[in-house]
Formats: sequence, structure tokens, C-alpha cells
Amino acid sequence: MAELAVYAAHPEKSRGRVHNEPPPYGRNQFQRDRDRIIHSTAFRRLEYKTQVFVNHEGDLFRTRLTHSLEVAQIARAIARNLKLHEDLVEGIALAHDLGHTPFGHAGQDALNECMRDHGGFEHNLQSLRVVDHLERRYAEFDGLNLSFEMREGILKHCSNNNARQLGELGERFLKKQQPSLEAQVANLADEIAYNNHDVDDGLRSGLITLEQLSEVTIFSEHLQKVKERYPNLEGRRLIHETVRRMINTQIIDLCSHSEKLIAEAGPQSIDDVRKCLPLITFSEGMKQQQLELKQFLRKKLYRHYRVNRMSAKARLVIQDLFHAFIEDPGLLPDDFRTDVNSDQPRAVADYIAGMTDRFAIREYRRLFSIEEQSL
Ligand code: MG
Repeated sequence: MAELAVYAAHPEKSRGRVHNEPPPYGRNQFQRDRDRIIHSTAFRRLEYKTQVFVNHEGDLFRTRLTHSLEVAQIARAIARNLKLHEDLVEGIALAHDLGHTPFGHAGQDALNECMRDHGGFEHNLQSLRVVDHLERRYAEFDGLNLSFEMREGILKHCSNNNARQLGELGERFLKKQQPSLEAQVANLADEIAYNNHDVDDGLRSGLITLEQLSEVTIFSEHLQKVKERYPNLEGRRLIHETVRRMINTQIIDLCSHSEKLIAEAGPQSIDDVRKCLPLITFSEGMKQQQLELKQFLRKKLYRHYRVNRMSAKARLVIQDLFHAFIEDPGLLPDDFRTDVNSDQPRAVADYIAGMTDRFAIREYRRLFSIEEQSL
């Protein structure tokens, strides 16, 4: 690994793990975290969870797994430029969506609604719950027992109420402090990844067109450049050449603007970073361009009637599953049935959130269909 800046997270100065463990051999603490995330069950499930398009709609669309890999790739590129810890950003990127429900945002909204009187449901907090409690594969502890810095990075946002229950990890929300620069990088790499791959998937699906996208500044500027350089290019190559330039420009903008902010603030340690304003940010110009792109995607893609139809169905599946399990916990697998004193709605939410798209559909059929093959 390249030389680390003073303001980077240094694994030997980590705030440690909840359960003490001997130091890893031949790898650093953040590498060990990253490796544990990759070996987790929740990570494998990302392959069959929706980003925007439901898993069975086509083999070429992004899933949560390929999305997370793209985030990790972008985050590492930025981290290397800024001399931050690459293993830490990679781990945060790979884990950031572990708590997502099936069926993307429609699933999350439906589950949150079902949990309204039981503390709500928030996918980012659920990602932390997965790595802290729900993975059960180690002899000595529940969860993955990740380092403080990895957990700090996974928890992007949090209400004050929840923060108070999270001890040391929740403190920064109450004190209005920032997480490490590695966490800030992973967060913005997420944004770069989904904005650009949603353009690509949106075009591939035919729900949005090149003509429509030409109204969006950042897209049309790069499309123009590609057309000037390759006047006869069309189809997938034209789109890819445009999208890869968009990603590149955003990474360069983020690195150079953040470098400037870091130089001005002059943090000498990760603790200094935590007390500064956010130091990883895009330039004003780039923020504007991204906002325009996001607004376009929201209007033309995320609220397209074909996406809405799928979302409506997803909502129904989640609601019906939730109510069936609450009314009769006897329908739940043993691991998710709790004794009378503990939190049964939370256990139901954990079970549903862990489902892949296709498992949720299958479970729905198993519970509500009386056709012979579903019994
Ligand atoms: Mg994401």
C-alpha cells in the first residue's frame, strides 16, 4: 500500500473492537474487517437484491452486489489519490448496503411503514445491525466484531434517538462531528457509482433515452466530446464512452477539491478530521451538475410507471409478509422466533430485510398460494 497521510485512519491506532481479539497475522486490522465482510452471508445475498431493477428483469442490470463492487473500486481510486487507507474504504464500500431490504427503496419504505410503531426501519442502521449482531458464524461473538473505524464508516446517518443507544459509535451524531475521511470517501463514491450506473441501466432498459439525457448538462457535455472524437460511434460504445468520462470527471473533481479543503484545514490526525467540517466534497460547480442529473433520474427513471408498478407489487409483498408473521410468529423459522419478552416485530423485520428479491417472492407464494407446488 502507498504511504498513508497523517490524517488517514491508521490500523495500528484503531479504537479497536467490541470483543478483544489477538492481532491478525500478515494483514492489517482493516484488511481483516474487509475479509470478514466478503465472507459474510449478507454479502452473498447482495447478488440477488435489487438496485433499481428487480433481479429477474434482466441479467445485465446492476444488483446490490455489482453496485457495491463499483463503489469499492471508485472509493479505492479516490483513497489512493488522497493517501487514505484503501482497505478501510473498500470494506466500508462493500458493507454499506448489507442492510438493504429486498426490492430496493420500495421495500425499505414498506418495511419502515410496517415498523412505524416499533422503532421504524432504516436500511443504513440495519447494515450496522447485520455486522454487529445478525451474522452468526463466529464462536466467540455475534456479528463480525469489526473495528470501530469500519463500523463508524458503515453508519452514515442516524437519528439522535438511535445514536444515544449506540454508545461510542453514536457520539459523533450527538456532537455533530464527522467520521473518518475514508468514510466520507465511501459515501461519495456511492453517489458517483449509482448516478452513473443508473444512467447506464436506464438507457439499457429503454426507460430513458439518449435524447432525454441530452438535456442534462454533465451528460450532454461528455456526449459531445465523444461525438467530436469518434463521429461514427453509436449504441453501447457511445454510451459507455460517455459514462466513463462522467465518472472520471467526478472522481477528479472530488479529489482535487478535497485536497484543497484538507490543505486549508490542515488536520494532523483522524481525530482532527472528526472535528472539522466535511473535507471530502465536490466543487460547487460539480454539485450543481450532479443535482441536475439526480433530479432528472428521479423524475424520468425512479418514477417511471414501469418502476412504479414493480414498487407497488413489492410493497404488497413486504406488507403481507410482515403482517402474517406478526399475527402468527409460528410461521417464522426457529432462528427468528423470540420468546415473549423480546422484540418480535424487530425479529420479523430482520428476517424480511435479510431476504433476497426472489426469496421474498417465494416466501410470499409459500404463505399465500394454495397451488400444490407452493405447499
Ligand atoms: Mg449504495
